Amino acid sequence: GTSKSDSWRADRDHFIHPYTDFTTFAETGSQVMSHGDAMMITDEDGRSYLDGIAGLWCVNLGHGRREIASAMGEQAARLGYFNTFGHSTNTPAALLARKLAERTPGDLNHVFFTTGGSTANDTAVRLAHYYFNRLGKPAKKKILSRHNGYHGSTYFAAALTGIHGIHYGFDRIAEDIVHHLSAADCFRRPDGMDEAQFCDFLVDEARYRIMQLGAENIAAFIAEPVMGAGGVLVAPEGYHRRMADLCRENDILYIADEVVTGFGRLGHWFASEDRFAHVPDILITAKGISSGYCPIGAAIFSDRIHEVISVPQGPGGVLTHGFTYSGHPVSCAAALKSIELYEQEDVFANVLDTGPYLQERLQGLTRHEIVGDVRGEQLMAGVELVANRASKTSFAPELAAAEIVFGRARELGVIVRPVGNTVIMSPPLIISREQVDKLVDALDQAIEDVSGQLLS
Ligand code: PLP
Repeated sequence: GTSKSDSWRADRDHFIHPYTDFTTFAETGSQVMSHGDAMMITDEDGRSYLDGIAGLWCVNLGHGRREIASAMGEQAARLGYFNTFGHSTNTPAALLARKLAERTPGDLNHVFFTTGGSTANDTAVRLAHYYFNRLGKPAKKKILSRHNGYHGSTYFAAALTGIHGIHYGFDRIAEDIVHHLSAADCFRRPDGMDEAQFCDFLVDEARYRIMQLGAENIAAFIAEPVMGAGGVLVAPEGYHRRMADLCRENDILYIADEVVTGFGRLGHWFASEDRFAHVPDILITAKGISSGYCPIGAAIFSDRIHEVISVPQGPGGVLTHGFTYSGHPVSCAAALKSIELYEQEDVFANVLDTGPYLQERLQGLTRHEIVGDVRGEQLMAGVELVANRASKTSFAPELAAAEIVFGRARELGVIVRPVGNTVIMSPPLIISREQVDKLVDALDQAIEDVSGQLLS
């Protein structure tokens, strides 16, 4: 960019960006985003882009929604903040908790509010430990997670995370507690296995691990219904249901991390039950709950857990866990308004129309030699780039292949998201078929334009 505004300089000199390489951005700085309208995002130089990633899998209702802004502003003016630690509550938090209990499956009726997805996952693990302590089973501590799973950036959520590069330069904490199972990665499954056999393999592996570690030592299994940041990996059919059954047989809680998949990304309020036919013990949400307009997350848990942890028990009967901003009135007002808009505008029906269309159109990209796999479901999609399609050999990380495709696509007016060697798309759920065409055509062109450079 040519702009060197005051914001750009202030940012370059002082703002440490999340997940960002210092050296590159010390020179180029960052693009200052200025405003948004529905599917479009505009920078301070007036360049507009089709937002193919809903900000970061979250702005599900699109940008510039006055209704959400007004709900937030009105709540901030009425009561900007007061704590919810026992003696007091607030109307948006209370109504949102009830609304979530209605919208989540089964007996998930109890809502613990957090500040985002990482803190909600930390909360889920603390709840699982607390639950088994209260049950008199304090040995049940271990957590089964999965390679390639992404669960956040607080130290424990990062420990749950199974993406190797993310741990570089940090200590690995909780290695005696967190155990990673294989990713449900159909693209890189063992040679010669069909999808059904791969599903058996994954469930057998989990069963074997539970046997090795001892079910009496395991508190919970955590999984995204469809892995997001790990590369948009869709598990083989039946996997989640069978893992849920396996967990139940072994008295292991199933934590569904629906931070990305909740609130319509897969065409339903939540994917666990509506798409994958099981009810988790704890469901994690964030992002789409407020359409990204405010930081908020929640760990929503079952009657069964509530019955155990709510029994009075002297000093130990207090759930000593909580955040200043648990049940923040402005965040909850943003979430309540978002849910109202999801309902009123029949947004998820649009997902069930444009989602399959996006997946179908993306299949066309397999015409490029560097496209190894196109995968996803509804409005969650990934295009994995490979140096050699036959052998599925990845591009060397230093080539930053997906980053190069991202850069070219941005020049062509669309924003996608490079993660490893995969280009990810997760557009706002209000996308039209014409906008799907624009997104896919631009990505197609971008891949075409950079293929030569990447293969040379
Ligand atoms: N879980 C999943 C599946 C996510 O994709 C993310 C963020 O991308 C998180 C948890 C962490 O959420 P947050 O960044 O709000 O802490």
